Amino acid sequence: MPLSLAAEVIRLRTRHPFVIARGGSSDYRVVWVRLTDDEGREGWGEADPSAYYGETADTVLATLERLRTLLPADPFQLETAESAFRGRVDPARTGAARAALSVALHDLAAKRAGLPLWRLWGLDRARAPRSSFTIGLDSPEVMRRKIAEAEPYPILKIKLGTDRDEEILRTVRDATDKPLRVDANGGWTRERALAMLPRLREFGVEFVEQPLPPADLEGIAAVRRAGVLPVVVDESCIVAADIPRVAAAADGINIKLAKCGSLREALRMIATARAFGMLVMVGCMIESSLGITAAAHLTPLVDAADLDGAALTANDPFVGATIDGGQICLPDEPGLGVRRR
Ligand code: MG
Repeated sequence: MPLSLAAEVIRLRTRHPFVIARGGSSDYRVVWVRLTDDEGREGWGEADPSAYYGETADTVLATLERLRTLLPADPFQLETAESAFRGRVDPARTGAARAALSVALHDLAAKRAGLPLWRLWGLDRARAPRSSFTIGLDSPEVMRRKIAEAEPYPILKIKLGTDRDEEILRTVRDATDKPLRVDANGGWTRERALAMLPRLREFGVEFVEQPLPPADLEGIAAVRRAGVLPVVVDESCIVAADIPRVAAAADGINIKLAKCGSLREALRMIATARAFGMLVMVGCMIESSLGITAAAHLTPLVDAADLDGAALTANDPFVGATIDGGQICLPDEPGLGVRRR
């Protein structure tokens, strides 16, 4: 019997409105996916849609309906199932929906094997890097409050890409001496990015993420050639096939399940990026601990993690991997190791 599929929309609220260069919100609709086998065992996944990548909770539900008939009877048929999903829908606008199914299949397969997914993959969870914690765009006063609340986290990621970036950096630096990473979410021009670089270095920034719009790889290459800071691309790099192109322009990539659409594709991205000698980072959307735990299983393989999505929410319905004090801790239970709070 094929696996049965149930999908439920969950509303996540963030503690503060989460604002980046493209705008923001404090209310996020994600989709909790459950696959059940004929023995009643369940595999769970979460779709974290982003309008920027053409998805909403409603399109996710519609995509899941179209993929329902392609669910395998055997959850270990991961490669076949994922390529069938890709073939049925537009891969560019279904990443979050396909990722939820991929994660649920992996959860179920690992539960059947009686092993945590990270152990099934042969990984050492002690190798997970510490996660950064993101400070979204806000007034100086609120930013100072957020930095105080982020006290347990050793690395901060600062959202930039505005016309008051220097003020933001000054506010942050005056409030903390923690290592900083910045993400402009494509919000700078070439001139602005090149002018910002020395300032970023002055403020002790470790690397800069997506300085320019995703298609401007030539501009991103120019920012990198300036040689001031390593450049990581996020919006410019969706799947492994993008990597040979972006490798000429950037030092690293930021992988997200909602973009690449599957855990197996995320593993291919890590392998491909390593072949080009690139730095690898794993990131997230605003997600519950279910989505974060899936991404966290990749972290023993990467250099940097930004898995604060659940920590930014006020009503996380799940318990799984934790990032207490920035240290990512993968669970001991079979599968993803996620349960309801
Ligand atoms: Mg980013």
